[in-house]
Amino acid sequence: MDFLTLFLIYLCFVLAVTALLCLCSGRKESFLTRSINRASQVLSLVIPTQLQRVTHQALHRLFHTRSCLFMVLHVALQAAVFGEYTWEVFVYCWELQFHLLLLLLPYLLLAGNLGCFLLCSRANPGTVTKSNAASLVKVYAYDGVLFQRGLVCPTCTVEKPARSKHCSVCRTCVHRFDHHCVWVNNCIGASNAAVFLLYLLSLTATAGAVAAVTAAFLIHHLFLTFPRIVFMLGFVILLTLVLGGYCSFSLYLALTNQTTNEWCKSRRFGGSPHLPSQPQDRPLVYKNIYSKGIWRNLKEIFNPPTAGSQSSLAGIAGYNDAFIDQYIRLLVQDIKEKRNTAVPCLGRPEGVRLKA
Ligand SMILES: [Zn+2]
Ligand SMILES: [Zn+2]
Repeated sequence: MDFLTLFLIYLCFVLAVTALLCLCSGRKESFLTRSINRASQVLSLVIPTQLQRVTHQALHRLFHTRSCLFMVLHVALQAAVFGEYTWEVFVYCWELQFHLLLLLLPYLLLAGNLGCFLLCSRANPGTVTKSNAASLVKVYAYDGVLFQRGLVCPTCTVEKPARSKHCSVCRTCVHRFDHHCVWVNNCIGASNAAVFLLYLLSLTATAGAVAAVTAAFLIHHLFLTFPRIVFMLGFVILLTLVLGGYCSFSLYLALTNQTTNEWCKSRRFGGSPHLPSQPQDRPLVYKNIYSKGIWRNLKEIFNPPTAGSQSSLAGIAGYNDAFIDQYIRLLVQDIKEKRNTAVPCLGRPEGVRLKA
């Protein structure tokens, strides 16, 4: 099995675990939870009952009991990554005369990460016991919402300090409980939160260092072996980004029924792609009066209106020639009477009626 296949399996596994964790988190309102619930309901009709029971037991064993499985998987994945790194990347980079410190950086970070991993998994996260409960209760104030004073854990029979929680996996109350981490097979609480943070940082740095050296090696190696292909690849990537950006912009214009010229000019007037609602006596604000909804806008691109069609200005706004004549007549009348009526682009003066 090659590394890429292993990586893809790992990626699928991580995504599946993430989905399961979302399901177990109890956030019923989340979209993901609802989708998984629906999928589970459909699958439960197809999958035999015996298989469902075995799956439930396996999931319960994985996520609701302390198990070293994820720790073993964690170490196995690191071993696989560093085995590949040492076997191929390190050797080739050494031959290509990469700086030794750069090549050793992933190993140094790995050593730090493994130290944090061990500390995190072995450390007491801050177990609340009968002997320390009285003192831990005084550490944080009760907010009266999430944490109520005087509550006793029915399992541990100790008063629960503020910000603590009973972990059903570890079967103990943990002070300043954060979460139960399956990867380190331990709770993350007040006493090991700092080590956990260092563990996460070192793990990220390790992955980043391996990725950086591997990417540098690949670019260097490819450039030496296939220089023309590398140049072509760079050009095509750049072209894709530039054309993709311009294509997205053109699509946006088409969907909002604007031309590039209109879009550029509208910048000066604080343009809006929506239909007009310009109040009278206000500074000119550009409003896109040509937009008729996404699908009709798109249709207009492929089937442009002609002089005889209903997509002229009057047709777009739902006005006809008689309406416009009447509108202008009333407007002139308003001006004559010095009513100082502003000229809205398409606002309808009183008395104007559309012809049926
Ligand atoms: Zn408890
Ligand atoms: Zn726990």
